[in-house]
Amino acid sequence: MTEPALATRTKRVLTGYRPTGALHVGHWAGNVENMLALQADAGYDCYFFVADWHMLTTHYDRTDELPGFVEGLVLDWLAAGLDPERAVIYRQSDIPEVAEMALLLGMITPLGWLERVPSYKDRLRDMSERDVSNFGLLGYPVLQVVDITIVRGELVPVGEDQVAHLELSREIVRRFNRLYGDVLVEPQPLLSETPLIPGSDGRKMSKSLDNTIGVRDGEDAIRATVRSFITDPQKLRKGDPGRPEICPIFALHRKFSPDDVARIEATCRTGELGCVDCKTILADHLVETFAPFRERRAALAASPGVARDVLAAGADKVRPVARETIEIVRDAMHLR
Ligand code: SF4
Repeated sequence: MTEPALATRTKRVLTGYRPTGALHVGHWAGNVENMLALQADAGYDCYFFVADWHMLTTHYDRTDELPGFVEGLVLDWLAAGLDPERAVIYRQSDIPEVAEMALLLGMITPLGWLERVPSYKDRLRDMSERDVSNFGLLGYPVLQVVDITIVRGELVPVGEDQVAHLELSREIVRRFNRLYGDVLVEPQPLLSETPLIPGSDGRKMSKSLDNTIGVRDGEDAIRATVRSFITDPQKLRKGDPGRPEICPIFALHRKFSPDDVARIEATCRTGELGCVDCKTILADHLVETFAPFRERRAALAASPGVARDVLAAGADKVRPVARETIEIVRDAMHLR
């Protein structure tokens, strides 16, 4: 049997998601749509996982919320269109080999590499109200590289600003391979577009900033949140010329109102369009965009056990791959 040419070979792509609450519009635009596109591309063998151990790095004292968050995330994914027949959907903690491999890779990862990771310092600063100065948070890049290498992931979707994050994973893999032989697959970045979606205060939409529009929200909640968004502070009333380029509502129009965006931009600038009407147009589009999602999600939630079954089937597919990898790693490290 001849091997398929490299260019046509399916490549394993992997992405994970921390279950810390309901998906919001920023996740949808930056992450879920990308996963749907990967799943639809026959060139990719998709592994999508719920990163529940990663959630513990910052929310170790809220594990009572975990089961609901995990189930909620899987239902969100399924309602959005992720398909367990076309992508492997699983939970990190269902694969115990991940923990063993994290211990082993932790042994070869210099402390200095972890301490210099900018997102570690960012998290310590942004979460100053919580005590997150723990070993798990410092070591999360090790867990991250394990997530990728345990399933022999070849590609990791990243935005341009995240390529540096993946570089640490690649460095750890190279160090392992230098020490023990050419064993682990060095992952490559798969550059993906991640539009910056602002929240109600103009900063990046983020649950921790409490500035989000939830994709599960009903019509009234969506309209109320959109009304609460800041706009161009110089445009005080209809008739005042606006600056769409600095307005978070306009950034959302770019994503969710593609057919109206030119007209909105022009009439904002002339002042003809007022912010109240502009927000109503956006809310209409958001309600329309997410209505089918909410319907599908309600139907899924009405059948108990859907998420559990999907995760169990996913774990059955991943475990043999992970077991094979850990066997190879043990051999390479003479742990026999
Ligand atoms: S009219 Fe729309 S785009 Fe212009 S400032 Fe108001 S909300 Fe923003």
